Amino acid sequence: NMKGQGRNGFCEYDGELQSEYIQKLKLRDRLKKAIAEEALTVHYQPIVNAQTGEINKLEALVRWHDDVEGDISPVAFIPIAEKYGLIKQVGAFVLHQACRDLKKLHDAGHTRLSISVNRSVKEFINSSDELQVWEVIEQYGLPDKSIIVEITESTASQESSDIQSLLGYFKQRDIQVALDDFGTGYSSLSAVVELRPDIIKIDRGFIKELGSSQDSLTLVSLIIDLSHKLGIKVVAEGVETKAQLDILRELKCKYVQGFYFSKPVPLDTFMAQLKTR
Ligand code: C2E
Ligand code: MG
Ligand code: MG
Ligand code: MG
Repeated sequence: NMKGQGRNGFCEYDGELQSEYIQKLKLRDRLKKAIAEEALTVHYQPIVNAQTGEINKLEALVRWHDDVEGDISPVAFIPIAEKYGLIKQVGAFVLHQACRDLKKLHDAGHTRLSISVNRSVKEFINSSDELQVWEVIEQYGLPDKSIIVEITESTASQESSDIQSLLGYFKQRDIQVALDDFGTGYSSLSAVVELRPDIIKIDRGFIKELGSSQDSLTLVSLIIDLSHKLGIKVVAEGVETKAQLDILRELKCKYVQGFYFSKPVPLDTFMAQLKTR
């Protein structure tokens, strides 16, 4: 044994990387199994009109409960799905489920609701994603304008030209596009002007600091004003307190989403919430 040698240190480090790699492969295999066994589900979180309290939209968020590992967060498994070629299957599942459930809601009389679905940029690079989205919407007989495609700001600025043409397709139809986690990426203001999304979702990191950081307050206020001047709707994500809601109302933010209103919940629970409002 070469105790205390630099080489040994290197091996240990290597071993750590290796076990991290093995963990990823395990997660990938479990995810494959979960997809095959249709073990993924979708939960819904209301997006609320800040002035009236009316539920206006809902966001579809994928959920995975593994028998051994318990609940696995999409923050952990979406990157794995992207890396190992499983994201299209996950995305297709979520899109179908979301449309099926929105159809149920429309049939129950809630025809003004629209649904937000998260899409990874990797799902539509060279894959005519827009066609898939159209087919699925048509399959469920939903109006285009009831579907919102959410893409994150950071990826949108990376693949700008692809995104640009994709947004063009969606705009030809009435499908709406939202820039998610806005403020966390590095896109310039001119990129926002060019992309001209229908909706900007302010990242919850800024909402969290609204009461304590003057900088966050300034930034949020600026994003809201800029969006409104460009005719873009604004959703504040991660609203957890009445104090945050009050500030956002004062800043004339139109839509809010967060645990203050509801966590993401199964469709049944969501429908019950609609009734009690
Ligand atoms: P996101 O699209 O920004 O979704 C919002 C996340 O914030 C959700 O986490 C939601 O549960 C959480 N959240 C909502 N309100 C609050 C709040 O008041 N406080 C706090 N602390 N958190 C709040 P979730 O469901 O774990 O999803 C995490 C991310 O995973 C999503 O961020 C999205 O980027 C990705 N994701 C989720 N579902 C899908 C999907 O179907 N496809 C793709 N491609 N990505 C997805
Ligand atoms: Mg989202
Ligand atoms: Mg977000
Ligand atoms: Mg996100």
